[in-house]
Amino acid sequence: MRIRSEQIIFFLIISVLPLSAVVYVSYDYSKEAIRDSVMTNLLVATENTGRAIDDWMAARKDDVLIISTIAENTEKEKLQGYLFTFENEHKGVYEEFFLLNPDGNITFSTLDRTGNAAKERYFAEALKGKLYISDVSLSGITGLPEIIITNPVKRNDTITGILGARVSMENLYTVIESIDIGKLGEVFIVNNKGELIFHENRSKILLENINNNFAVKEVTYEKRGVGEYTNYKGEDVLGSYYWLPLYRWGLVVEMNKDEAYADVLALGRLTTGISFLAIFCVILLAFVMSKRLTKPIESLKDGAHSLVRGHFKAISVSSNNEIGELTEIFNQTAKELLDIRKKLETKIETANKDLEEKNRELIIANEELKKLDSLKSDFISLVSHELKTPLSAIRTSAEFLESEEVKESNVEKEMLENIILSVDRLTRLINDILDFSKIEAGKMEYHFERANFHEIATVALENIRPLALKKNITISVDIPKNLSPVLGDREKLIIVLNNLLGNALKFTQNEGRILLSAKDDQDSIMIRVKDTGMGIEKNKLVKIFDKFYQVDSTSRRKIGGSGLGLSISSGIIKAHGSEIYVESEPGEGSTFFFGLKKFG
Ligand code: ADP
Repeated sequence: MRIRSEQIIFFLIISVLPLSAVVYVSYDYSKEAIRDSVMTNLLVATENTGRAIDDWMAARKDDVLIISTIAENTEKEKLQGYLFTFENEHKGVYEEFFLLNPDGNITFSTLDRTGNAAKERYFAEALKGKLYISDVSLSGITGLPEIIITNPVKRNDTITGILGARVSMENLYTVIESIDIGKLGEVFIVNNKGELIFHENRSKILLENINNNFAVKEVTYEKRGVGEYTNYKGEDVLGSYYWLPLYRWGLVVEMNKDEAYADVLALGRLTTGISFLAIFCVILLAFVMSKRLTKPIESLKDGAHSLVRGHFKAISVSSNNEIGELTEIFNQTAKELLDIRKKLETKIETANKDLEEKNRELIIANEELKKLDSLKSDFISLVSHELKTPLSAIRTSAEFLESEEVKESNVEKEMLENIILSVDRLTRLINDILDFSKIEAGKMEYHFERANFHEIATVALENIRPLALKKNITISVDIPKNLSPVLGDREKLIIVLNNLLGNALKFTQNEGRILLSAKDDQDSIMIRVKDTGMGIEKNKLVKIFDKFYQVDSTSRRKIGGSGLGLSISSGIIKAHGSEIYVESEPGEGSTFFFGLKKFG
């Protein structure tokens, strides 16, 4: 897991969980407190309303009692006037004042009513000598809810009549309706049977029984209290109920639960909001802190990667704390490592170069070995052929001479000549091999001195002249008398001329011509050996200077040779600081030429 995620989780665990717990607990306490306070307020409001009803009813009782006392000592007409006045002063409260005689006949009514009320309960109860308050009923006159209060009028402790007051409930209803029950709340009064005797919807009064309502049940059991329940309409409510024993009424005040606990809900939302805000702040804080912590670590990681790849740049140190110190140490270590790496790379490069050099040397040595190997096989083939031929000729001639049949002197002479030729051939071969091995080993010794090419050419020409005569080949010489002397090794140059003239002789048919020429050319003299012989194909021209190389054709093979002559000559002329060149056309002859430095 990444450090950032770990930090966020860590911060969440150490701060959000306890914080959430604290917020939740305080929310729970506050919720309970708010609930208690809402309930208490509702209960208090209900009790106050109950008291207001009591006060209102007490005022009505007092009115009737006082008027009854007044009636005891007041003349009829005066009393009637007083009742009219009183009723007018309490408009909307009293619908009617009336007087009954002990027989129940109506002797006076502010509504001018007549009749007998002897059967009415309010008459019978008052006649017992006590104030009586009737149940709420719908008025026979106005059709609206009313109560009738009656009280005996006495004179000398004898009941002389009954004072009755028809009291409209509307005035009381306005008092009740002042209670705060919210938009969805309901307040009503039921009688002890559960019938509505007050409701804002007047049409329900005395026509609807709601004794299935929890609060109504409670209140009709003459209880007071507050509680949460589902009311007769199926709504969740907070209800308070208050029993008014004097009139056997139950006052019920119900508030919609959501409305009542709006503060609790608001608190819940606030708490949730605070919790989320806290979580957000903690995550933000954790993010910022982890970024501060991980950024240098990331830089270190990138630095380590770039170090591995070999292009490290020093990481900037952004803080003085332990991470800053670590970054500095890392930078220092990386620098040292890079230095070591550079040194190692240089060493490896040098070692590689050495290795390459050694490899090249090995390849060259290998090539040399291969060459030596082929040299060896060339040498063996040469020896096997070139030694065998003269040796077997010597043997044949010697055997022939030894036989007794041979008596003719000219044959004997021919045999002896054969032996001499073969010995010469062998001597040449051995000399060639010796010269060649010296040149190859770099052990050929040279004595450079002032040399006259005339003398060199004369010696060489003398060597080949007998053979030329034999083949009837014309040898022409074109060397100016005043030819400049050269710097060279006389003996070695004789070998070169012997080889070139020997080859010219060998590879030119009878009756052919050979020209040896020399002439001055700036600071050297140019020597040419030209023949009218068989010539050499173009593609073989470069190879004829290789050791043991012989242009392979049967005619040439018969002529014999070591394949070393040109190689030796080339080595000698190179030692003189020059080179042998050849121009040739097959069937038209060849020209070998080279320069020699003038003496001085
Ligand atoms: P070899 O001992 O065979 O003459 P060389 O090194 O002197 O060896 O010559 C190499 C080969 O070059 C010869 O075998 C021959 O085939 C060719 N060669 C040299 N000189 C001539 C020439 N003047 N005319 C034709 N071929 C020549």
